[in-house]
Amino acid sequence: PISYQESRTYRVGKVAGRVPVGIGRRRLRIVVTGGAGFVGSHLVDKLIARGDDVIVIDNFFTGRKENVMHHFGNPRFELIRHDVVRTDIVGGGSDISLGLSCLTSSLQILDCDYKTNVMGTLNMLGLAKRIGARFLLTSTSEVYGDPLEHPQKETYWGNVNPIGVRSCYDEGKRTAETLTMDYHRGAGVEERIARIFNTYGPRMCLDDGRVVSNFVAQAIRKQPLTVYGDGKQTRSFQYVSDLVDGLVALMEGEHVGPFNLGNPGEFTMLELAEVVKETIDSSATIEFRPNTADDPHKRKPDISRAKELLNWEPKVPLRKGLPLMVTDFQNRILNEDEGKGH
Ligand code: NAD
Ligand code: UDP
Repeated sequence: PISYQESRTYRVGKVAGRVPVGIGRRRLRIVVTGGAGFVGSHLVDKLIARGDDVIVIDNFFTGRKENVMHHFGNPRFELIRHDVVRTDIVGGGSDISLGLSCLTSSLQILDCDYKTNVMGTLNMLGLAKRIGARFLLTSTSEVYGDPLEHPQKETYWGNVNPIGVRSCYDEGKRTAETLTMDYHRGAGVEERIARIFNTYGPRMCLDDGRVVSNFVAQAIRKQPLTVYGDGKQTRSFQYVSDLVDGLVALMEGEHVGPFNLGNPGEFTMLELAEVVKETIDSSATIEFRPNTADDPHKRKPDISRAKELLNWEPKVPLRKGLPLMVTDFQNRILNEDEGKGH
C-alpha cells in the first residue's frame, strides 16, 4: 500500500482474504475518493464500523486529515494523498468505488474545478471498469439548476445556465452523470448515482461560504447572519447521517438511479436564520447582502423513488440536526482563535 506519495501511478494492493462480516455479508473493500471531506469522512466512519476495508483517496483541497485521523493505525483503513484529476490509479481487488471528490462550496464555485468532476470521475470509472468494481457517483441537486418543476423528481431534466458562474459545478456533475451512464451502458460497469440535496452536520468546512456553515459560524462568533437577496429563496436541509444511510442503501441496492437523497423539509433562508438563532443565540442579528448570480429560487426533493426502491427516508429534522453540529463548530472556532493568538 502506498500513502502520501507523489508518484504518477498508485497501485491499490489486494486485501488478504475476504473475511465474512455479519450474517450473509462479506467484507468489502471500498475506495472513497474525497473521503477526508465532510460527507466522505462520515461515510468512512460507517463503513469501517460495519467491518469493511476502506481506502481514502484525497488531495486535501477542502478535506482535512483531522476528519479521518481516528482511523490511523487501523489496518482496515488506508489514506492516499492523490489528485484524482492528475493521474490514473491502478488497482486490484476493490469491490466498490465511491466518487465523492469534488468542490462544493459556493465560494469555490467561481474557480470551481470542472476537471475534478469530469476527469476525476473518468479516472475512477476507468478504475472501476478494469477491476470490476461497482461505482457510485455523488451527484447533486444542482443538476436541476433553477428548477421550473417543484418539488424535483429524478425525471426532471433541469434548468441550468451552461455559461453561468455556477456552471462548472452544475455542468461538471451533469457531465459526470453522462460519463457514468456511458460506462454503464457501453462497458457494463455497475453504477449507482445519488443526487444529493443540501447536507449539513459536524465536519462541514467552516468557511466555505455555504449557508448552514456560515450561519452557524456567524452565530458562534457573535457576528450578524448574512442573508443573501431577500432571503425568501428555499432549500431543503438534510442531516449527514441520513445521507450516509441513503448512500449505503443505494450502494448495496439493485438500482442504478439516479436517486434524490435529501430531506423534503423546505425552509426559506430567513426561516433557517430563525432556527439558527433559536439553536445558538436568540440575540443574533441579520444582515442582508446582495445574492449571487443564478441562485436557484427554490429546491425540494421528491424522494418517492428512494422511499420505494431503497426503503430509505431521512429521520432527522432540521431542529434536531442543527444542535448536533454546534459543539464541533464551537471547538474548531475556539482552536482557530487560540491558534491566532500564538
Ligand atoms: P467536501 O469539500 O467536504 O469534500 C470533498 C473532498 O474531495 C475533500 O476532502 C477534498 O479535499 C476532496 N477533493 C477535491 N478535489 C479533489 C481531487 N481533485 N482529488 C482528490 N480529492 C479531491 O464536500 P462534501 O460536502 O463532503 O461533498 C462530497 C460530495 O458530495 C461531493 O461530490 C459533492 O458534490 C457532493 N454533494 C454534497 C452536497 C452537500 O451539501 N454537502 C450536496 C450535493 C452534492
Ligand atoms: N446564502 C445566504 N447566506 C449565506 C450563504 C448563502 O443567504 O451566508 C444563500 C444562498 O444565496 C442560497 C442559499 O443560501 O440561496 C443556499 O446556499 P448554499 O451555498 O449553502 O447552497 P446551494 O446554493 O448550493 O444550494
